[in-house]
Amino acid sequence: MKLHYYCSSPSCKKLNSIKVESSNRYDLKKEIGTEINERCKHCGNHTKRHINRLHASPNYIIVIGGLGLAIIATILLWDFGLVSTLSGTIPIAIWMSEEKKASAFNKVLIRD
Ligand SMILES: [Zn+2]
Repeated sequence: MKLHYYCSSPSCKKLNSIKVESSNRYDLKKEIGTEINERCKHCGNHTKRHINRLHASPNYIIVIGGLGLAIIATILLWDFGLVSTLSGTIPIAIWMSEEKKASAFNKVLIRD
């Protein structure tokens, strides 16, 4: 899961991301603790953030990967007439599951 946060430096405030194994904030607390202390990729300042303030977003690389797979499947299966349903549903299904994972993460906050 990729999580996003904004740099705390007033002159920067750029969006940063970190990669974690956890798919919810309870696991995340076990993985990295209740706070992150990450260095901004843009200005180098450290940003402290409570993990409730980290936001997940769908992994578009996976979605694009699914789209690529669908295009390949379309080319390979062109002769079999299976094309339209398969190439349409695969990327949509992948995208929906990515959206679902991200919104499930964002909905649940930890209490401490
Ligand atoms: Zn910054």
